[in-house]
Amino acid sequence: LRSKLPHIGTTIFTVMSQMASEEGAINLSQGFPGFGADPVLLDLVGKYTREGFNQYAPMAGIPSMRKILSEKTQLTQGYFPDPDREVTIVSGATEAIFSAVSAIVRVGDEVIILEPAYDSYEPAILLNGGIPVYVPLNSTDFSVDWEQVEIAISSKTRAILVNSPHNPSGFVWAENDLNALANLIRDREIYVVSDEVYEHITFDEKRHFSLGAHPELKEKTFVCGSFGKTFHVTGWKIGYCIAPPALTEEFRKIHQYVTFSTVTPIQYAFAEYLEVPDRYLSIPSFYQGKRDFFAKGLKETLFEVIPSHGSFFQLVSYGHLSEISDRELAEKMTRKLKVACIPVSVFYANKKDDKIIRFCFAKTNEDLSKGIERLQNLR
Ligand code: PMP
Ligand code: GLN
Repeated sequence: LRSKLPHIGTTIFTVMSQMASEEGAINLSQGFPGFGADPVLLDLVGKYTREGFNQYAPMAGIPSMRKILSEKTQLTQGYFPDPDREVTIVSGATEAIFSAVSAIVRVGDEVIILEPAYDSYEPAILLNGGIPVYVPLNSTDFSVDWEQVEIAISSKTRAILVNSPHNPSGFVWAENDLNALANLIRDREIYVVSDEVYEHITFDEKRHFSLGAHPELKEKTFVCGSFGKTFHVTGWKIGYCIAPPALTEEFRKIHQYVTFSTVTPIQYAFAEYLEVPDRYLSIPSFYQGKRDFFAKGLKETLFEVIPSHGSFFQLVSYGHLSEISDRELAEKMTRKLKVACIPVSVFYANKKDDKIIRFCFAKTNEDLSKGIERLQNLR
């Protein structure tokens, strides 16, 4: 069989998690919480499965789930998307991104990706016959170089894929970044796929500005989110897409044939769970505690800590310590030191190795402490 994605192998997240488990290493690689979800949420899923909510949900999501998501969006972002015409519940942000890209990208269209970038963007573009155009983020702090983005725009540009808070760097866009993007795509038929899965995980004085709340960008943007990330249940694969009616109409045509609809009892559970805003308003301080705890420990290691302002990831650089590649270091650390991480070069199309590795701090404090203890032994 001639592969449609010849250069793509198993994702690094699977590879490193597997290696961690073979080696009995502390897994600070793949981004998933190492602790349980709120028992109230788990009980609600039990309740709705037992009460018989186990058949297909409506294609766009159950009405109460779409409505409560709009209310949450009003409370956190100051706008209320129309639950019937602008909100779709899907099987994780990965599906939201794939369906949004499929809805807009035609053969030969160019799509701008800011790298380092999450690994699902490129295949979604390629499978739709699109051409990814890579623009590097600033290498010091992973902010966007808007002049470089402007240079990358051509008459073939159909879309730009953006992600804030950013995986892997933890960089969080300021309001000015949204304005810069709006200026660039004004009067052009360029759509935006905005990956906002870490919308509830920002630190210090930073806050997340959704593109859906921006007066201009909202007209052209698919906002993609994930309940799995926010509520510590990544295995449930449930997310959403918010987009204006004309875009949502096209989005749903794809969603309808990718999965048709999303797991029913979990939608009912979230529809009830999200009625209490503190359940998501408390997330930033919870994760800020984890980030502070982990970063403090890392400062006692030889690594150089790169500040993280959002997401549940922490980058460190090691170029001053060793010449080995980030992939080799990640493997060595997993096998010898028994701490697994992700090499950041995998987030680049051209495998740029800046000697940076990524840790996930969405783990128990016990695991974080053990991990740090081992990292402090690195010489
Ligand atoms: N985008 C980014 C930046 C992510 O880190 C992840 C998660 N791992 C996803 C999308 C996918 O989210 P989901 O698990 O809801 O498909
Ligand atoms: N987004 C997660 C990460 O960055 C991984 C999700 C996956 O394994 N596909 O680690």
